[in-house]
Amino acid sequence: MTWATLVLSHSPLRVELVGTLAVRIIFYLLPSLLFFLFDILFPSVSVAIKARGELGLPTGSTKPARGLLGIGWKEAKVVAWSLCNLLVCGILAQGVVEHVLTKVLRYRSAIRVSLRLPYPWESVLDILRAFVVREFLTYIIHRFALHSPRSPVSRYHLSWYHSLRVPYPLTAHYDHPIPYLLLKVVPLYASAAAFRFHMTTYMLFVALVSLEETFAYSGYKTLPTGFFLGGVARRAEMHVIRNNGGGGGGNCYFGVWGVLDWLCGTTAPAVEDHEQQEEEDQLAEEDIDEKMIRKAIEEYRRLLREKKGNGNKTRRRRVNNNR
Ligand SMILES: [Zn+2]
Repeated sequence: MTWATLVLSHSPLRVELVGTLAVRIIFYLLPSLLFFLFDILFPSVSVAIKARGELGLPTGSTKPARGLLGIGWKEAKVVAWSLCNLLVCGILAQGVVEHVLTKVLRYRSAIRVSLRLPYPWESVLDILRAFVVREFLTYIIHRFALHSPRSPVSRYHLSWYHSLRVPYPLTAHYDHPIPYLLLKVVPLYASAAAFRFHMTTYMLFVALVSLEETFAYSGYKTLPTGFFLGGVARRAEMHVIRNNGGGGGGNCYFGVWGVLDWLCGTTAPAVEDHEQQEEEDQLAEEDIDEKMIRKAIEEYRRLLREKKGNGNKTRRRRVNNNR
């Protein structure tokens, strides 16, 4: 089937949704599922190529957990929600946006499904621009909507996604559906819609993002384009380990590429010695409750310090007034 027959025989919305779903399945779901199965079926082989050793395995151990297929109920929940987010929530949200734009508002669609194919250089330029917009949106949403104590959705992101020890295959799409839509669907779709991508360009863009997510969340030591994907993987890992745990790192790595984190000062010190690696592993082993308690203690200490500072200032003012 050629592009022309596909466009002429189906509605634009159908082409867009089925095309997106197919790309997601081929470039993200199948390889991630394969990595996940490899991790749980051959944990003693997989552990040797995991950057975090045993911690990088879905169950956090080479011993099979009590539950389905050697994984615990928590890991089963992670898999189920990852699939639901990817195959249902994301696609449904995309369908609703296109339906509202074209049928309710009678406006043009966000993604262009037309017979004329774009020139290769047009697609390359569009994708580069969209990656930049996606990075800005990801950073802003992640930092200010999902990690701000004043945001009503931050507790969902913290109690769902941040209950993970470290990322492992399939966890790129694991989160509560609301933070998932905000962090994964909005930046990707809005950056493509901002330049009104041609459907073929959009499929290429989704394929590249899917491959990035597949490898960056695999937890493996050696990755294709090691410098680039290795960096993305390392930052995703540090974000999970160090966020909410305090532990010297505090909130860090909200973006994907690390450039905005570097510019805004939200990076964490690089692992330079064995001691720090051990500290990170210890933080990763803590569960979400321990992380929350540690965060609350740190917040209490900070408030005490502030109160003490204000008390000193008031006392000094009184002494000056009495003179
Ligand atoms: Zn986060």
